[in-house]
Amino acid sequence: MVLHAAREPLRLEDVPVPEPQPGQVLLRVSACGVCRTDLHVLDGELPHPTLPLVPGHQIVGRAEDGRRLGVPWLGWTDGTCRYCLSGRENLCESARFTGYDLDGGYADWVVADERYCLPIPDSYDDVQAAPLLCAGLIGYRSLRLAGDPERLGLYGFGSSAHIVAQLARHEGRRVFGFVRPGDDAAARFALELGCEWAGPSDEPGPEELDAAIVFAPVGALVPVALRALARGGVVVCAGIHMSDIPTFPYELLWEERAVRSVANLTRRDGEELLALAPRVPVRTEVEEFPLEQANEALDRLRRGEIRGSAVLRVTV
Ligand SMILES: [Zn+2]
Ligand SMILES: [Zn+2]
Repeated sequence: MVLHAAREPLRLEDVPVPEPQPGQVLLRVSACGVCRTDLHVLDGELPHPTLPLVPGHQIVGRAEDGRRLGVPWLGWTDGTCRYCLSGRENLCESARFTGYDLDGGYADWVVADERYCLPIPDSYDDVQAAPLLCAGLIGYRSLRLAGDPERLGLYGFGSSAHIVAQLARHEGRRVFGFVRPGDDAAARFALELGCEWAGPSDEPGPEELDAAIVFAPVGALVPVALRALARGGVVVCAGIHMSDIPTFPYELLWEERAVRSVANLTRRDGEELLALAPRVPVRTEVEEFPLEQANEALDRLRRGEIRGSAVLRVTV
């Protein structure tokens, strides 16, 4: 499924099987998760995709030698810049990203730099594992950057939050789910996943929060989440793109509250999450679509109609 220009549907096309270059592995794709970042690419909100482009950066596939590998968003780094040399390859200035700079997993075949692939834990099947590779990974990194909160608020209860809620509960945190006003199904889903409270994001929760993670790409939620924080709390913005953040009084930031973003992932995040997920165990709730229905899956995601994660099933 190929993107030729922003704001156009993906087109189903026959393309040549990609040739692996030295250091790359050729994978037969079996599943690829659909991420909100894919929507930002399609909608032209991320400025420089390599067109034409095969999107998709939550790939589970098999190498010719039978290994089952996951391909995440971080596809390549230079290893030499000041960020790479200080353990922050997620900030590499020359990084290339899967399904953005590099062709991704909305396809039967993909090539990937082997050094950035992640082995998939045995206890997950291909479709269930796919959402771990971005929703899970970015969620995991966001949770780490939220510090050590007793009370954690999750704003936007989609693919990432449904995984983070399980990780946070496993760590003994109290989790509060903030959903789109009127979305009772999302509120019920949040409660099923261990949130002790779920309610509309435009109203305060029952208690102050020590940290909030904003998954929804809605800048207006940043001051709302700040207002919900206890002293010293942090708002972590987990998305790659967000609508503008409205101005807010300094009072909301006072008393050592903080706002920060999370960018991309490191390989270490990947190794840590894929070791942790089977121990929790994280269960991903997945809605499956055949590859050729990628546009439908993306539209459903855009309308907030996916419970958990949407995943494209590529080969049976
Ligand atoms: Zn670098
Ligand atoms: Zn993603």
